[in-house]
Amino acid sequence: RFITLEGGEGVGKSTQAAMLADALRARGIDVLLTREPGGTPGAEAIRKLLLDSELEIGARTEALLFAAARADHVEKAIAPALDRGTWVVCDRFIDSSRAYQGGGDDLFDDAIMALHNIGSWGLMPDMTFLLTADNEAVAQRLAARDGDNSDRIGGRSAEYHAAVADRFRTLAVSDPERFACISADGTPGEVHDRIMRAMAPLTGE
Ligand code: C5P
Repeated sequence: RFITLEGGEGVGKSTQAAMLADALRARGIDVLLTREPGGTPGAEAIRKLLLDSELEIGARTEALLFAAARADHVEKAIAPALDRGTWVVCDRFIDSSRAYQGGGDDLFDDAIMALHNIGSWGLMPDMTFLLTADNEAVAQRLAARDGDNSDRIGGRSAEYHAAVADRFRTLAVSDPERFACISADGTPGEVHDRIMRAMAPLTGE
């Protein structure tokens, strides 16, 4: 099973991915917990390029680098894990590219999916949790991170992030079989419980 967590900055994806992986392991399931951009040495090296603001990488180059990072991650980590029956929990995946490079940067969804088909055999998750929060709650959570740069790429406007959130919602609505929208409001434990309830069809509970 291939499960991804998606959403904007500061909605608690990484925390929830870790909690989900722990909960699945507690049920005796073998789990690879990973993230993108990153997850393999090659993809982590590409992540460093993407997050280096001095390079002033443009939107199309960024889209290519995200696709390249994903290709290495899928080829070397995700696909082999799925092949041996390990479940994969991934913090961000193709839907982040569709929302950020598609919704935020206005690149065509067809083009982003073409890169995904070339790089990663068009691999899609079995289930995707979209964590949603209103802007106010996210702003508070990010302020509490204390000095941590919330948008690690930086220099993006509020409009950009609104367009990203919009595109995530559109993607979720267009594929309700795969997506579960989960409110990120409340404690990490409360959000985790929502995710586990939505996981029931996969865990057989
Ligand atoms: O989730 P995380 O904070 O690790 O993501 C790193 C950065 O990459 C974030 O600033 C996120 O907005 C950005 N990103 C992106 N497009 C993607 C995936 C991540 O702009 N496809």
